[in-house]
Amino acid sequence: MGLIVQKFGGTSVGSAERILNVAERVKEEKARGNDVVVVVSAMGKTTDHLVSLAKELSAQPDKREMDMLLTTGEQITISLLAMALKNQGTDSVSFTGWQAGIHTEPVHGNARILKIETDSIKKQLSEGKVVIVAGFQGISDSGEITTLGRGGSDTTAVALAAALKADKCDIYTDVTGVYTTDPRYVKDARKLLAVSYDEMLELANLGAGVLHPRAVEFAKNYSVPLEVRSSMERVSGTIIEEEPKMEENLVVRGIAFEDEITRVTIFGLHNYLTGLSTIFTTLAKNQINVDIIIQSTTESNETNLSFSIKTEDLENTLKVLEENRAVLEYDQVEWEMKLAKVSIVGSGMVSNPGVAAEMFKVLADNGIYVKMVSTSEIKVSAVVAETSMLKAVEVLHNAFDLAKEYQAVKR
Ligand code: ADP
Ligand code: ASP
Ligand code: MG
Repeated sequence: MGLIVQKFGGTSVGSAERILNVAERVKEEKARGNDVVVVVSAMGKTTDHLVSLAKELSAQPDKREMDMLLTTGEQITISLLAMALKNQGTDSVSFTGWQAGIHTEPVHGNARILKIETDSIKKQLSEGKVVIVAGFQGISDSGEITTLGRGGSDTTAVALAAALKADKCDIYTDVTGVYTTDPRYVKDARKLLAVSYDEMLELANLGAGVLHPRAVEFAKNYSVPLEVRSSMERVSGTIIEEEPKMEENLVVRGIAFEDEITRVTIFGLHNYLTGLSTIFTTLAKNQINVDIIIQSTTESNETNLSFSIKTEDLENTLKVLEENRAVLEYDQVEWEMKLAKVSIVGSGMVSNPGVAAEMFKVLADNGIYVKMVSTSEIKVSAVVAETSMLKAVEVLHNAFDLAKEYQAVKR
């Protein structure tokens, strides 16, 4: 007998009928002889609705109250699922984040899980109950309710699986697994049989919304076997593990993309030596995440600095730069909005030089202008115009043969 953590996302619990379907999946897992902990998200688009409701009342809602509001979404689902399970004869109990012992940093809106006290969950499991935990929420040491960032229920599930030393964590969602790219936008996208933790971490960080990046981090750090699978279809999904052996010869495993990116350029940065660190320290202190950074020197020996940010951070970035103008000693700031980042990811790149060159050739052949570039051992990202984003994904998907079926290797 094992312990399985199952996580069901918003669409999968989007109606009473879908909750009944989840109850059925839980019951099946129980019938296989396993203890089951279930993590659920808010129903359907509940979190989005709550966010827009708050924005109707305040342009920048108080962060503490926002967490208080958003955590109600998951609380609806846990109670309904517990009712459904009890009704079909499966004993169960619902827990909020704090009842489940999930302790986080004292940060609102994007808290990290610090520790999980598993005693209460273990006690209920030992009594034969299914434990249903509200995703995306925890409690700080001072007793404040916190949330883990959008999409954070995945992280609740994997962190619980790690803390409970579960045999497996199944992430049930509205697609049948992790695809070579978002199947909602690219019809040729193909389901991957397996992805490594590192590749998945890159894909998630670079915009593939199928898994919360911190969930993958937990899975990697605690070696939690993870599967992304469909809540509706009974088919095997995608395994995320240390070294996938099932699909070989793949240089590029997948393509991630995200829009709403802005490039900010600071012209004539005097006092470059200290200016550089001051700029990024100041932005970081203001919770502004800077992504790609490019520095150039003009003929007249002036230093210009470009960096990319999320467009939602532009207003704040400009404010911070203006406030620190005297310290930073620059001439002028310009920016370009409506950009997107397209990234190819694959561990095979380490031993295959020329992948970046191939990527730029494909983009150039298709008239797609690259505005910024960043690379790591297993990824290459290119910033392009937002209007070219999907075209870039499509041509790269074709060029790297991602739609092709690979032979499964027996394990
Ligand atoms: P849930 O509510 O179950 O957490 P999400 O909407 O967070 O579901 O994640 C599933 C969605 O992720 C899919 O509907 C799909 O559009 C999107 N997605 C983005 N990139 C990928 C990818 N590479 N493979 C599969 N799905 C992806
Ligand atoms: N309900 C939260 C959100 O929509 C958390 C989650 O679904 O994972 O972001
Ligand atoms: Mg999600």
